[in-house]
Amino acid sequence: MREVLNFIGGEYCKGHKGEWMNSVNPATEEVIAKVVNSTEKDAITAIKAAADAFPSWSQTSIEKRSKILERMAYLIEERLDELALIECQDNGKPLAVAKTVDIPRAALNLRFFSQAITQYSQEAQSMKGAINYTLQQPLGVVTCISPWNLPLYLFTWKIAPALAAGNCVVGKPSEVTPITASILGEIANEAGLPKGVLNILHGEGHRMGEALVVSHEIKAVSFTGSTQTGKTINQLAAPHFKKVSLEMGGKNATIIFDDCDENKAISTAARAAFSNQGQICLCGSRILVHESLYEKVKSELIEKANKLRVGDPTQEGTQQGAVVSEAHFNKILSCIEKAKTEGGKVLCGGERFGDKGFFVKPTLIEGLPQKCETNQQEIFGPVATLIPFKNEEEAIAMANDTNYGLSASIWTENTSRAHRVAEKLNTGIVWVNTWMLRDLRTPFGGAKESGVGREGGFHALKFFTEPKNVCIQY
Ligand code: NAD
Repeated sequence: MREVLNFIGGEYCKGHKGEWMNSVNPATEEVIAKVVNSTEKDAITAIKAAADAFPSWSQTSIEKRSKILERMAYLIEERLDELALIECQDNGKPLAVAKTVDIPRAALNLRFFSQAITQYSQEAQSMKGAINYTLQQPLGVVTCISPWNLPLYLFTWKIAPALAAGNCVVGKPSEVTPITASILGEIANEAGLPKGVLNILHGEGHRMGEALVVSHEIKAVSFTGSTQTGKTINQLAAPHFKKVSLEMGGKNATIIFDDCDENKAISTAARAAFSNQGQICLCGSRILVHESLYEKVKSELIEKANKLRVGDPTQEGTQQGAVVSEAHFNKILSCIEKAKTEGGKVLCGGERFGDKGFFVKPTLIEGLPQKCETNQQEIFGPVATLIPFKNEEEAIAMANDTNYGLSASIWTENTSRAHRVAEKLNTGIVWVNTWMLRDLRTPFGGAKESGVGREGGFHALKFFTEPKNVCIQY
């Protein structure tokens, strides 16, 4: 049985308390690894290793830091098949998705920030008889906490800018899907990352969360996960005035107007609802449709959902794998039951697939009021609701009527409408006639309870550095 160990000061090690937890393949229900369940004491050891490494790493030239990150990207690509299979077994996602999306993107994150740091220039303002310049200095030790839905992809999305900017990292991947992130330790060593610059802790977040946030050595916390955990971290961080970046849940609207390219809108709405078993923060889980197109969109979406091939994620051609865990599977099924009690009509799916593994059939539900729990709370599974609207104002009001504000996608061929609606949506990201098209330079993050701060490009490098103004009179 594979042992998933902490990676501290460049060495793999067990936890102080010797406690373990299991990592389960959600498609087979088999235990595939024993994972260290760390404690605060382990966190303190990791923080110390990172603090010891900081003086030297922060003084390492940008060129050298960039080269090491590029080498890490290359080594991830070299191990693509192995990492993709592990991601598939640990998470339940189709192998094809891990191979073409998750692992290539993990490599790209490191490559992107290895290049971005070489382009991150500092500002100067000249006055009469004086000049100001701004130093952007690394913060010190930072905590990077990531979730289970895109395990290596989101872990590297945080650690890459942090390391590129000259910080040392204590990383905490999700305990539900820890294996690929644990392999990153080997990759870091092989790439020549100095010991202690990247430390990786495993186990349940609440056992070490406080140490990872409040320790005086921790200068910033970058978190992606649920709004509930984000709130806890924010509360812990506030009295210590820590910098926080919080990427949290979403209840995103796909808004289909009657003047859209219908085929493209419907097939993308299906992709937005069900990709990665609906377990992407950006998934369009509320599909708002103009009433004149409602019946057509509904019947075509049902057909598409029913056609998705659910099953063994290692098989070629599988489009829907297992959801991540038994607990999450039960949560999704209970959300579907709740929708029924709220008056929802299940149009397709609505139940488990097969009798082994945690598979949920792609599910569409209609007939629910706007204010019900199903239309307000994130389910984070292959479940979307269909809601008709009468006009543009109503569509905007419905889209905005949730505590979340991560993303939205608008479907219209009318350019004026696209601009008008995009401006009025209370979200951090709006797509027009597309979904999840990403340029890594753009600001990424949410409004309201979906996020605090922005990741991506120079936004991330700004977060991981402290500006210092130097004013010289001459
Ligand atoms: P989660 O909040 O349960 O866990 C996320 C991470 O936080 C894990 O590593 C966990 O161990 C850690 N954690 C838990 N309690 C902690 C504590 N008290 N202190 C410190 N760390 C703690 O989230 P999840 O279930 O792993 O992920 C799903 C959620 O993530 C969904 O809500 C989804 O929308 C969100 N998400 C958001 C984005 C985004 O960019 N906005 C991206 C992906 C996922």
